[in-house]
Amino acid sequence: MQCPICKKPVDENEIGKPGSTFPFCSDRCRLIDLGRWLTGKYQIPADEDEAETSVSDPAADEPRGTRGTRGT
Ligand SMILES: [Zn+2]
Repeated sequence: MQCPICKKPVDENEIGKPGSTFPFCSDRCRLIDLGRWLTGKYQIPADEDEAETSVSDPAADEPRGTRGTRGT
């Protein structure tokens, strides 16, 4: 059995023990996997369409003030 994150061998005797991080070798790898899962979820561009509709509105672009800092 290998840890899916760092490929370190995981002691199968740890399976089922209280506080076991199976199938990960440690709590750290468990969190890394959780983080990857969350990152992947957030990367789904589901909200991008919504953001783009507001950007395509020229009136919404003006009060940003980013242009002024660039021009001077
Ligand atoms: Zn690991």
